[in-house]
Amino acid sequence: MQYAIPFNKPYLSGNEARYIEEAVRSGKISGDGIFTKRCHTFFEQQLGFQKVLLTTSCTDALELAALLLDLQPGDEVIMPSFTFVSTPNAFVLRGAKIVFADSTAENPNMDVAALESLVTPRTRAIVPVHYAGIACDMDAIQAVAARHNLTVVEDAAQAIDSFYKGRPLGTIGALGAFSFHETKNITSGEGGMLAINDKQYANRAEIIREKGTNRSSFFRGEVDKYGWVEVGSSFLPSDIIAAFLWAQIENMAVIQQRRKDIWERYYTALQPLMAQGVGLPIVPDYATNNGHMFYLVCRNLAERSALITHMRQLQISPVFHYLSLHKSPFYADKHDGRELPWSDHYTDCLVRLPLYHELNESLQQRVIDGVLSFYKGR
Ligand SMILES: *Cc1c(COP(=O)(O)O)cnc(C)c1O
Repeated sequence: MQYAIPFNKPYLSGNEARYIEEAVRSGKISGDGIFTKRCHTFFEQQLGFQKVLLTTSCTDALELAALLLDLQPGDEVIMPSFTFVSTPNAFVLRGAKIVFADSTAENPNMDVAALESLVTPRTRAIVPVHYAGIACDMDAIQAVAARHNLTVVEDAAQAIDSFYKGRPLGTIGALGAFSFHETKNITSGEGGMLAINDKQYANRAEIIREKGTNRSSFFRGEVDKYGWVEVGSSFLPSDIIAAFLWAQIENMAVIQQRRKDIWERYYTALQPLMAQGVGLPIVPDYATNNGHMFYLVCRNLAERSALITHMRQLQISPVFHYLSLHKSPFYADKHDGRELPWSDHYTDCLVRLPLYHELNESLQQRVIDGVLSFYKGR
């Protein structure tokens, strides 16, 4: 079903095909070519990241992170239940046990106040997810991690160009994973990046990303031959992907300004619904908004279903989001039985509104009018 106003349309700068052609003509289209280096340099020199590596997806960046942590079967990793499958899946692949945390009443981010009660002697890592690009309370998370010697891996898939107390998200924990999937602010169709913020992981991250070989050191002339030095995989994207990504990164300021403007317009127009008990995104003082997502929290599941039906009749496609992973077919019988009511609440009640570059003011007004007409008299 095609809607006049879909949920998402990927932004295109117009230079994507040109840069891909350039990459093709350069004669080197495997990983770590000129466009990959350009992307790495941008993040390291302009955005203040210590070290980054492009990956084929955020899923792969998380899998790389899980390999770096050397998890043993039975080790525990704490993360929210209200997240994408890839967040736990990366660690389950290493044999880890996932301890799911609840979200907060304020927003879907993990409840930091209850975090320490989930720590056991087997806990190895905490994986906060910055939902909608809005920061989790990182000082509180880092404090728990420091007290129990845990590693923090930020799932910053949605959090490009967003900050916690002035620091870029994804650079605060030891590792940070980003996504450039078509639905994210900056995209290469499929794509991702690992930020390595703790030096102890820098060398091994390169090795694991290159099939467990020290090939990156070899290309820098640090060793005179390369070989198999540990278990790894192939997580580096073709330079064709990086060329596409570069065309987006170059236009990041334009993309971000537009998304934030759309977000602000939604917020201003829909704020009156709060008096009726409808939830709007809450951005804590320590966080910024990167315009990744605008959502409403309906009062119950029936209301959300009716709102989506109403909007679809208007040729507009809002969409709900995650289903609590502690209740998923794969994990339900492995979960420890704790109720996670806020995670379930967002599963039932959260709905995301269309937000993309081409959503001009008159199209957005149709979305706003649709939502307001639904709530009139309710
Ligand atoms: C999109 C997303 C992912 C997965 O990203 P891919 O690049 O598609 O692998 C992981 N976690 C969160 C929170 C996401 O939003």
